[in-house]
Amino acid sequence: MYFPPASDALIAEAVDHALATGLVMRGVDGAVEHAPFTLFPSPYPRAAYQRAWALADDFNRLFAAFQRDPTPLEEEIATFAAADPFTGQLFARYQSARRGDYWSAPTLGLFRSDYLLQANEVEPARAADALRQVEINTVSSAFAALGSQISLLHHYLASRHAGVSSEQLPPNRAQQGFTDALASAWHHYHQRHGLPSGSAALLFVVQPGERNRFDQRLLELRLWQAHSIPVLRRTLSELHEQQEVRAGDGALLVEGREIAVTYFRAGYRPEDFPSELEWSAREQIERSRSYASPDLLWQLAGSKKIQQRLAEPGGIERWVDPATTDRLRSCFATLAELEEQRVNATIASPDEWVLKPQREGGGNNLFGTQISEALSHMARESWPGWILMERIRAPQQPAVLLRNGVASSVAAVSELGIFSTCLVDQGELLQSRAVGHLLRSKPANIDEGGVAAGAAFLDSPVFVTPNNIAS
Ligand code: ADP
Ligand code: MG
Repeated sequence: MYFPPASDALIAEAVDHALATGLVMRGVDGAVEHAPFTLFPSPYPRAAYQRAWALADDFNRLFAAFQRDPTPLEEEIATFAAADPFTGQLFARYQSARRGDYWSAPTLGLFRSDYLLQANEVEPARAADALRQVEINTVSSAFAALGSQISLLHHYLASRHAGVSSEQLPPNRAQQGFTDALASAWHHYHQRHGLPSGSAALLFVVQPGERNRFDQRLLELRLWQAHSIPVLRRTLSELHEQQEVRAGDGALLVEGREIAVTYFRAGYRPEDFPSELEWSAREQIERSRSYASPDLLWQLAGSKKIQQRLAEPGGIERWVDPATTDRLRSCFATLAELEEQRVNATIASPDEWVLKPQREGGGNNLFGTQISEALSHMARESWPGWILMERIRAPQQPAVLLRNGVASSVAAVSELGIFSTCLVDQGELLQSRAVGHLLRSKPANIDEGGVAAGAAFLDSPVFVTPNNIAS
């Protein structure tokens, strides 16, 4: 595969198309700019992609099983909830909601499972075996819309300027898949409650000043254009003023408008809850009959600690059948809890590990000497709030990164995300689909990943046979 050099003309063309098609974010100064992206798609082994795709249904079934029988999961969460105040508060609100007039509404999964390839295992026959899950995002999985946009832009640039055939560029229907799933949950709600179609709206719970708002707006736009579904966009603080749960049937009303589905693009970091008002708004939604995406059980099930517990012997077997267990387990990296011996060994040689707190949203993990530093000073009571994860050394390949119209050529590593959707009622999986992908690439010498955080660049895969990948 040959991509032409990043000439000024090519960069200008790519940036113009990015701006023209809504591949944009707000910068830290508030101005609209193109989202950071790679000029061309990055080589990725087809077999690894297909395997990640197939795993989506396995993860959906695992998460449906959590809803079917939440008690063992609640018992797990209770063992570490106290070690981290934020997790503790999420769990307390979950428990409090379930003790109240709980309406046990169906839940909508809009997930993204992220993977890195373990470089030393990327040989022709083994590319798919090199797939290691970094994490599964169960709340506010970003970039379904912008990920679809970068795929379209790359399709254009790679076919027009590098003669790449469509067959090598997987179609990306993440945006459509997310909006179809939201629409189908919305219809389900109307049917369940015998409401005339269109009497309820959809609610997006968002952060004030969200920089990645266009990723959300594109979903909102499509929900109206393709499904005639109105979206209300509110922060938790606004909801505290504007929402109520109707006595008698548990309907969630925002300024009097009934809400069928509540989609959270907020509520996953401590800053989203500056006061009791926001917590109270979050708990009230959990107490309503609106379908939550996700509910607090799924949000907690997507935590780093549960990821680590599932990887323990027996951790996953209780939830799914043996064949599913084998498939899921084979993509797990080595994960460990903090205990005396492991902590001491890791302080001495931290390079094989990543130290992760109970947080989402990027920028929280520790690498290398940061790990030794943190572990040397960490109080023992805090240990259950952290996990250690085997550090994955992904294969490097050249990439041209574009930020604010400026190009830089680097050795990059890529992280693949597969978007999936599912609708679950009382533990029964009514729908389960893999819908699209996101590739994010970052300079190989940068440890953390997030696009919004400024480390990673939106990318898309171009299929190659594994021996084309430099390691
Ligand atoms: P968050 O919930 O903050 O997104 P992640 O677990 O996804 O946390 O980690 C954030 C980023 O850190 C990832 O996108 C990846 O770039 C890097 N990272 C996480 N785990 C590993 C790992 N085991 N090996 C190498 N890099 C990792
Ligand atoms: Mg992540």
